[in-house]
Amino acid sequence: MIYLDHNATTPVHPDVVEALLPFLTEKFGNPSSIHWAGRAVKGAVEEAREQVALLAGCEPGEVVFTASGTEADNMAVKGVAAALRGRGNHIIASRVEHPAVSNPCLYLEHNGFEVTWLDVDRDGLLDPERLEAAITDQTVLIAAMAANNETGVLFPTGEIGAIAARHRISFFCDGVQAAGKVPLDFRESGISLLALSGHKLYAPKGVGALVVRRGVKCHPLVHGGSQERNRRGGTENVAGIVAFGKACEISRETMVHDMARIRGLRDRLEEGILAQVPDARINGHRELRLANTTNISFAGVEADSLLMGLDLEGIAASSGAACSSGTLKLSPVLAAMGIPAGEAKGSVRFSLGRGNTGDEIDRVLAVLPGIVARLRGKP
Ligand SMILES: *Cc1c(COP(=O)(O)O)cnc(C)c1O
Repeated sequence: MIYLDHNATTPVHPDVVEALLPFLTEKFGNPSSIHWAGRAVKGAVEEAREQVALLAGCEPGEVVFTASGTEADNMAVKGVAAALRGRGNHIIASRVEHPAVSNPCLYLEHNGFEVTWLDVDRDGLLDPERLEAAITDQTVLIAAMAANNETGVLFPTGEIGAIAARHRISFFCDGVQAAGKVPLDFRESGISLLALSGHKLYAPKGVGALVVRRGVKCHPLVHGGSQERNRRGGTENVAGIVAFGKACEISRETMVHDMARIRGLRDRLEEGILAQVPDARINGHRELRLANTTNISFAGVEADSLLMGLDLEGIAASSGAACSSGTLKLSPVLAAMGIPAGEAKGSVRFSLGRGNTGDEIDRVLAVLPGIVARLRGKP
């Protein structure tokens, strides 16, 4: 079995499993309890907060643990909107945000906010000058992701942060795909709020974090007890948080080495496909891109058929286009880039990770050209 869908989720690292297990057994306390059972786990949650902060480049006190990347995204968008609605009702968001960001923005659009959706160019890049031109005296939030989940394309977060700072507007960055793949420097970046998710970096599903810069106004999404310094109610997912912290620590230690190796495999896969499959095109900027991701259009092929053919060979990849009730819904990300529908519907994302090997890439290159030729009716 060959897994090339790491942007969807990653396998949990064995050291992460080992770190979390005691918190499912003997270390069962509630971190808010002041007795021995609570104290035993409180320290572990705070250690995880430090580990996440080290990867993000922020202060531990700026990390708010959430139940997912999606929750962190919702908290950022709705929380800033709620806190600043007296100051303005305008949001700027890129057109290629993850649904966990675009749908909260749409929700606000239906509830009194105005959203300017920023286009990207054919390479998936965002133009900071156009972003700055979209700012009005009502703008309270800029939402622009660090790395795109479908194409891997990187946005210029430093430039966006500088613009946001100049206009004193909060800048929310979905860093879910970037974390563990490119260095993050929350302190220097000008980002006001940064979303992270555990299961995209070898921790379990169901844990994430929103980093909120000291002084940035953001209301809670989940109201309840005084956990997370009153920013997020609910008894902590201790095992998940400990796992997330450990996974961040491992990522920080291994990222440079891992990513160099993974980039080599990704490039080998791309070059092999371009050499062997006619009419294959890479979507997204070739350099300003995550090292593990490639999004490739196979003209004249339906992505789902190709994915099924690959699945029969034990190869897991994914498509940007989701097929719902027989009608092929095209990826909003590829549409925003101006990729013609004929190419977009044949686009497949391969996202590599720590476990992948050169032999696996060779195996994909041995079967993929034949599957594409068969689907094109040219065996
Ligand atoms: C996966 C993903 C999310 C959602 O994270 P979950 O933890 O799965 O809810 C948000 N943004 C991006 C860019 C993602 O890739």
